[in-house]
Amino acid sequence: MKRRTSRPRVVLALLCAFFGIEGFLAGAERDGEKVYERRVVLMGTEADVCIRGAADPAGLAEALIRELEHQEARLSTWRPDSVLSRLSEAPPGRQQLLDPPTCLLFQRLDSWVEATGGAFDPLIRPLVEVWGLRSGGRWPGDAEIARARASTGWRRLAFSSRDCTIRPEIQVGFDAGAFGKGEALDRLRDLPAAAGGAWMVSLGGQVLVHDPAGEGWKVTVAHPEDRGRPWLRLRLAGGSLAVSGGIERDLWVDGRRVGHILDPRTGRPAAYDGMVLVWALSALDADILSTACFVMGPAAGTRWAEDRGLAVLYAWRAEGGSGLRILPSSAFLGRFGDDFEPAGRCVLP
Ligand code: AMP
Ligand code: MG
Repeated sequence: MKRRTSRPRVVLALLCAFFGIEGFLAGAERDGEKVYERRVVLMGTEADVCIRGAADPAGLAEALIRELEHQEARLSTWRPDSVLSRLSEAPPGRQQLLDPPTCLLFQRLDSWVEATGGAFDPLIRPLVEVWGLRSGGRWPGDAEIARARASTGWRRLAFSSRDCTIRPEIQVGFDAGAFGKGEALDRLRDLPAAAGGAWMVSLGGQVLVHDPAGEGWKVTVAHPEDRGRPWLRLRLAGGSLAVSGGIERDLWVDGRRVGHILDPRTGRPAAYDGMVLVWALSALDADILSTACFVMGPAAGTRWAEDRGLAVLYAWRAEGGSGLRILPSSAFLGRFGDDFEPAGRCVLP
């Protein structure tokens, strides 16, 4: 979650529409029913809210946007007063009690750090800083990387899920970039007003859908190398779709790419240079998984996702530049196979 960011505005180009209606539309109609649309700038990115079938769509949109603002204040590691920033300031060795929502969040983070073998790590801030990911990028020396690695790592937090406490061993640094948007989107479901219609919210490369009647929302995923070009069209009747990667967020320093997703196990940018899409019921899970699968790369990541029945798709430029290679997991094909219509030159390995 960012205040200043070069995140692509529409990695997931959102078609605020019923499944079957193409194009950006404000007040689109089908069978006489209007789709209400609002776009705001939030968390350093654009948030699109689409609503249909609500008695008070403007009121519902307002409630959703207010909640996203509230979550930004809670989670953003760009704001010094957020819960996560305050925990980053916690003195080493002293026990801190977590509030109930933060404890629930930390339980999920803890289990994904474990399940991904540390490919996902919320305490990655020292490495983010040493690679200058918030300030244009840089190439650090080996000693700097080693020092940053020594102060990185979720286990240094000594989180007790039973007592809802942390006792950081060292000065830790949170970075919510890989999970804050997902957590913020999931919290929208708790709003009493959220039951008042079908809605879809897109936030910086991730979309969450609420669709009680199961009619579906249509989401267009932009081409990994050209976000102006529609690439995949998917129908979402629920859950959340997250994207990691794509060309625009990486930084270039001295003609060399500094990838914005780091491998905490090596302390260096992940080697993979493509895009990952993940669908999951929980937006938090989808957000975390797209980052973790990016770190794992297509070969290991697809095996890992297959073992767990996760819906993951990799897309990357083939060696020699001859078109995109795409690698969907069985669960991804099972969910989206029917309307899976990649455009352009795609090669299924
Ligand atoms: P996403 O776009 O959701 O994949 O998140 C990428 C952002 O998460 C980066 O810009 C960093 O702020 C942060 N990040 C990078 N690598 C990792 C990692 N391995 N684990 C957790 N957060 C990361
Ligand atoms: Mg993520």
